[in-house]
Amino acid sequence: SDGPSDMAPEVWEKVKNHPCYSEEAHHYYARMHVAVAPACNIQCNYCNRKYDCANESRPGVVSEKLTADQAVRKVLAVAAEIPQLSVVGIAGPGDSLAAGAKNTLNTFDQLSQLAPDIKLCLSTNGLALPDYVHRLKATNIDHVTITINMVDPEVGQHIYPWIFHNHKRYTGIEASRILHERQMLGLEMLQEAGILAKINSVMIPGINDEHLIDVNREVKKRGAFLHNIMPLISDAAHGTHFGLTGQRGPTAQELKALQDKCEGDMKLMRHCRQCRADAVGLLGEDRGSEFTAEKVMLMD
Ligand code: SF4
Ligand code: SF4
Repeated sequence: SDGPSDMAPEVWEKVKNHPCYSEEAHHYYARMHVAVAPACNIQCNYCNRKYDCANESRPGVVSEKLTADQAVRKVLAVAAEIPQLSVVGIAGPGDSLAAGAKNTLNTFDQLSQLAPDIKLCLSTNGLALPDYVHRLKATNIDHVTITINMVDPEVGQHIYPWIFHNHKRYTGIEASRILHERQMLGLEMLQEAGILAKINSVMIPGINDEHLIDVNREVKKRGAFLHNIMPLISDAAHGTHFGLTGQRGPTAQELKALQDKCEGDMKLMRHCRQCRADAVGLLGEDRGSEFTAEKVMLMD
């Protein structure tokens, strides 16, 4: 079970009230995501841009996009209704740090002033992360999730057709090499800054399934405290960039076999729900529809 026995005490101290990280906490503490980051700076082959970032969410979900001010209002309204609210995260619907991270930082800055007891976290593909680690530290972010699907650009070129970096578009193996270097650098910088790093990986059969064992080793080496291996949820109806034949997701048995192979002295997360970018409430419940921007406006 979760707890001090399988986590360093200083890590446990930070995550024990976090519903995603502690099996016990997820019955008592609530989390919410605010969808303030619509843009993205890379293309994943399994993503359909019309929906939430598939690095964090189930496919086919469209979250209500908010401005930073609307998001802050919504968090304060939710906190008043749900006193167990302990964590606010930004997980899209695109990448939380793309396009200068403007809305993300603005939201966090306001929340750290207005609701200092609420923990703040974000998810990112990592491309822009090295540019923001110091800024995130100054804003008191204590958890970052990076989606890392490869540590070898040869593998990466089958997952990422392009990235947009330093005002330039990169394709092919060069795109994956840059993404990989930025992800590793970002992870190391988080470690140095004392910000907890969780890694998400999407298991794509025939593309990176066996390779995720290498990913697990490399992220462990760089201090990630938790690894969450998620299944690709095949989404033929909504279309992705894997080609006309589509790309299947792993079976439950394949996923479990890989997770078992990766389970060593590093903790694996097995209860992530791949929540919507605007999820609200206890894990496994979603009260987002009670707190749309329109309803929040009517609350005060
Ligand atoms: Fe889509 Fe997320 Fe990948 Fe961007 S990082 S392309 S939003 S899955
Ligand atoms: Fe927690 Fe996973 Fe949901 Fe994020 S997506 S809030 S880590 S359960």
